[in-house]
Amino acid sequence: MSNTSGREIIVVGGGIGGVAMALALAKRGLRSRVLEKAPEFGEIGYGIQQGPNAYRMLDWLGVMKALEPQAVFTKNMILIDALTDKELTRISCGPAFHQRFGAPYTVVHRRDLHGALLDACRQRDEISLHTSKELVDFTDRGTSVIARFADGSEYEGAALIGADGLRSRAREIVIGDGPPRPAGHVTYRGVVPFDQIKDQSHFDDMVIWIGPNLHFVQYRLRGGTVMNNVATVVSGKFARGERENYGGPDELTEVFSRTTPHVQEMLSYVGKDKNWMLHDRDPLPGWTRGNVTLLGDAAHPTLQYLAQGACMAIEDAVVLAAKLEKAGKDVNAALLAYEKERYLRAIRVPITARIFGEIIHCDGGARDLRNHLMAQRTPDTTWEVDWLYKGIEVPA
Ligand SMILES: Cc1cc2nc3c(=O)[nH]c(=O)nc-3n(C[C@H](O)[C@H](O)[C@H](O)COP(=O)(O)OP(=O)(O)OC[C@H]3O[C@@H](n4cnc5c(N)ncnc54)[C@H](O)[C@@H]3O)c2cc1C
Repeated sequence: MSNTSGREIIVVGGGIGGVAMALALAKRGLRSRVLEKAPEFGEIGYGIQQGPNAYRMLDWLGVMKALEPQAVFTKNMILIDALTDKELTRISCGPAFHQRFGAPYTVVHRRDLHGALLDACRQRDEISLHTSKELVDFTDRGTSVIARFADGSEYEGAALIGADGLRSRAREIVIGDGPPRPAGHVTYRGVVPFDQIKDQSHFDDMVIWIGPNLHFVQYRLRGGTVMNNVATVVSGKFARGERENYGGPDELTEVFSRTTPHVQEMLSYVGKDKNWMLHDRDPLPGWTRGNVTLLGDAAHPTLQYLAQGACMAIEDAVVLAAKLEKAGKDVNAALLAYEKERYLRAIRVPITARIFGEIIHCDGGARDLRNHLMAQRTPDTTWEVDWLYKGIEVPA
């Protein structure tokens, strides 16, 4: 049996999930080694939304103080029909929201969030950080795990945590369910200085314009100095079986051509030279084998429509660290207990995100019904997200 006492935990992948994991382990007095494939730690330069469930975890991890000056505290989450510019519904994130969920809704730059976690890791003696380490394989000896990397190096730990993202090598070994599922949805992003934004009426709101096969998200970042813009289309080419070269800028323009001039104009805020083909996986259990488990996108990747992929990775980290602290000699039992506690909550996100994608992208009668039902909501109606935002308690 493997034993955590005095021994380090190997964390593969230094994204938001991996560095949150190392920090959570350090807070529990456990040592870890984070091994990241890229030559440098870092995140792409766009926004990320943090539900109140993630805020409370980040607060426990001790990074909110560093992050708050950069964060924008969302006042309302607003859905607008992209074909008419008519507001459909809003969730107020004011005092009642704060009271109900025990924390605010915030949006931050990914580099600010990842940077705050990384800086906190660098201040902890329990954590060592390595780059240019690509996991290729591991052997679980029962009493320890030996991880092997592309540069020939090997590291031994009491457990291995695969936090290596959507195309996880650790998952390939543990579950082996092949590549992730392309959704046929394509995203374009852009961060623009706030003074270049024409319509500044949604100053502190998170706004989503929704329409047939498309949506556009906008919110401010970095203390409000820049606007984050995200345009997503459901590719017709992909749906027709054209699996190569789908979702190009021509399709972006075409799918948005039915939207109002205001929405079409906002497409100038996103870069057209790069896009993201969205993927998820059909949720599966079995993240844990022996002394190895998976976390974040490696375990339960999701489409971004609930804005919760990173939030779930952070929750995973907090729960897993608590289980490992109490593992004693039975690391496998601790990892299985982590998976059991996280499984249904974590997979509810990708399943619900797919449904939410259908709702925001619908057309015809479905769109009419959606708009009608959304109009019945009040800004204080939060039942759809209650289970999500109420979150989890930090384990004792
Ligand atoms: C358009 C878009 C918008 C989103 N918006 C939100 C949002 O608003 N809120 C939210 O909570 N989530 C959001 N998400 C989801 C979020 O980005 C992910 O869920 C989150 O980044 C997952 O973190 P992770 O650490 O599990 O994986 P990753 O961030 O993918 O990190 C994995 C790390 O592992 C490294 N790695 C990979 N393979 C290996 C290997 N073999 N060996 C060593 N290292 C390896 C990678 O280089 C990477 O650094 C969004 C996603 C998209 C696509």
